[in-house]
Amino acid sequence: MEPNHLRLITHCPLCRVTYLEAQIRFCSDLGSAKVYHCTCLACAHAMIAVVMENSGWSSSIGMVTDLSAEDVKRLDHETSVSADDCVRFHDDLEGQTKAWCRRLLEGKTA
Ligand SMILES: [Zn+2]
Repeated sequence: MEPNHLRLITHCPLCRVTYLEAQIRFCSDLGSAKVYHCTCLACAHAMIAVVMENSGWSSSIGMVTDLSAEDVKRLDHETSVSADDCVRFHDDLEGQTKAWCRRLLEGKTA
């Protein structure tokens, strides 16, 4: 991990406790952006931090997540969900509402 990135990823956005370096894991290199996963030992929440560098300037964006660092690395190689995928899924749910409800209820009692 680059030392200047540690200065940008300092603390948990939810409980404000300072991260230890071991809690911050490098996940992927997107060229001018690096992706990290941070797990807070105090509140157990996780965050994905994207650190971007451009012309000597660095900035970061943090997103609270329920993904593990392994999930972030694994999903980095997957294709994105498209708008058409979302519409197809919505149509499937709408067209099979009774079947989905029955499956969910069966799963609860099993
Ligand atoms: Zn926390």
